[in-house]
Order: sequence, then structure tokens, then C-alpha cells
Amino acid sequence: MRRTARSSEARRSASAVKPQAAPPRKLPQRTCVACRTTRAKRDLVRVVRSPLGELSVDLRGKAPGRGAYLDPDRACLERGLAGGILAKALETSIDDLTADRLRGELAAGAKTRTGGR
Ligand SMILES: [Zn+2]
Repeated sequence: MRRTARSSEARRSASAVKPQAAPPRKLPQRTCVACRTTRAKRDLVRVVRSPLGELSVDLRGKAPGRGAYLDPDRACLERGLAGGILAKALETSIDDLTADRLRGELAAGAKTRTGGR
């Protein structure tokens, strides 16, 4: 069995007619801190704690500071806030005012994203 399998395999690779279904594996992946789903980084939003300790939704993903990734989804933000998961990931505490600001920024960001497509 092995011998025949090997010979046909060799022939197949020699002709090299692979379908072009090779997935581009170069997209960086990140995990949503709230629901632990792994997605392409560009499909998540980054919440960043700046060196000054201010939290914001970093839509470009390039702000300096400690970041945590979330789905661009209110449910995941709430989950991250409620369980203190986000605060923990960012090694800070999040007061109500900041939480509200993050909600607003996430909603605005989500709108921009879908509108841009
Ligand atoms: Zn999520």
C-alpha cells in the first residue's frame, strides 16, 4: 500500500497543478479578550492604555501603549467591562466615565468601518 501511494504522490507533485486555494496565512491574528475568539487583527478593535494611563479605542491599531483586542461589538465590550477582563488585560481600572467613552468610541468606530466598505 505504501509503495503505490508514494509513487502516485511523486507524480502528482511533479505535475504541480495545485488549486490556488492556499490560504494566505500572513494575516496577524489576535484574540478578543472578552469572548476569546481569535480573528484577523484587522477585524478586531484595539483598546489601548496610553503611557499617560488614558484609555481609548485605537482604530488604527498603532497607538503607543498597552493594548487589548476586542470584537467591534457592543456585547464583547460589555462583557469585557463587566467581568473586569478588559481592565485586567490593560492592567488598569476602568471607571464608569471611561467605560462610557469607550462605548461611544467603539460605536463610532464600528460605524466608520461598515460605512467605509
Ligand atoms: Zn469577542
